[in-house]
Amino acid sequence: MLNAKTALVTGSTSGIGLGIAQALAAQGANVMLNGFGDVEAAKAEVAKAATGGAKVGYHGADMSKPAEIEAMVKACEEQFGALDILVNNAGIQHVAPVEEFPVERWDAIIAINLSSAFHAIRVALPGMKARGYGRIINVASVHGLVASAQKSAYVAAKHGIIGLTKTVALETATTPITVNAICPGWVLTPLVQKQVDARAAQGGISNEEAKRQLLAEKQPSLQFTTPEELAGLTIFLCSPAASNLRGAAINVDGGWVAQ
Ligand code: NAD
Repeated sequence: MLNAKTALVTGSTSGIGLGIAQALAAQGANVMLNGFGDVEAAKAEVAKAATGGAKVGYHGADMSKPAEIEAMVKACEEQFGALDILVNNAGIQHVAPVEEFPVERWDAIIAINLSSAFHAIRVALPGMKARGYGRIINVASVHGLVASAQKSAYVAAKHGIIGLTKTVALETATTPITVNAICPGWVLTPLVQKQVDARAAQGGISNEEAKRQLLAEKQPSLQFTTPEELAGLTIFLCSPAASNLRGAAINVDGGWVAQ
C-alpha cells in the first residue's frame, strides 16, 4: 500500500499515464494529474479508483515549458505536502523520414519526451532527499533500446531518457530514492491509434488488419501491452522489494527487443 504517499504522473489524462494514476490511487496514494483533453473525466476515473481517502489533484503545466513544470512540482508539494513518486510519462509522436521531419515537431518531441523529465526530476529531488523516500519512474519505450525508421525524434528522445535514468540513478545510488525506466512495446492508446489509422488509410485495409500488421512487424506476442500491466510494474517499483532496483530499463514489449 502507498497510503500517505503522493504521486505526480505527467500526461495522465489519457492512455498509459491514466492507467498508472488509477493504480497509484487504488494503492492509496494521493495523485496529481497532468495533461490536456478531458481533464474532468480523468479526474473522475482516478477518484473512482482511489482507496483509503487518497486525494486527486490536477495541474495543467505544459510539459514543453520548464517554468510550468517547476511550478507544478512546487504546487504538488504545497497541496499534498510532498512529492514521493514522480512518473515522467507525458509524450507525443511524429512519424516522418528525417529529411522531411518538421523542425518544430523535432523540438516539441525533445522538449516533451525528454527535457520535461530533466526539469521535473531536478525540482523534485531535493524534497525526496529531505523526506527520505523517492521513486522516479520514466516512461521510455522499446524505442529507447532499439530504433524504427521514421521516428528520429522519438527514438532520440527515448534513448536520451534512458541515459538520464541511468545518470540520476547513479547520483542517487546511496539514497532511498530509486530511478528506473519502463519500456513498453505497442500499447493501444490514442498515440498508437493514430499510427493504426494511418496504416489503414495508406493500405486501404481495415482497422483490425492494420493492428494485426502493426503487431506482426515488431511484437512477437501479437498482443498489445496494456496500461494495467505497466501500472502493475509501476506499483512494484514503488514497493520495498524494488529498493535496490536502480537505473534499469525494463521492457514490457511482448518480446520486441528479444529478437
Ligand atoms: P496518449 O496520447 O494516450 O497520452 C499522452 C498524454 O500526454 C496525454 O495525457 C496528453 O494530454 C499528455 N501530453 C501531451 N503533450 C503534453 C504537454 N505538452 N504537456 C502536458 N501533457 C501533455 O499516449 P500514451 O500512449 O499513453 O503515451 C504515454 C507515454 O508512453 C509516452 O511517453 C509515450 O511515448 C510512451 N509510450 C507509449 C507507447 C504506446 O505504444 N502507446 C509505447 C511506448 C512508450
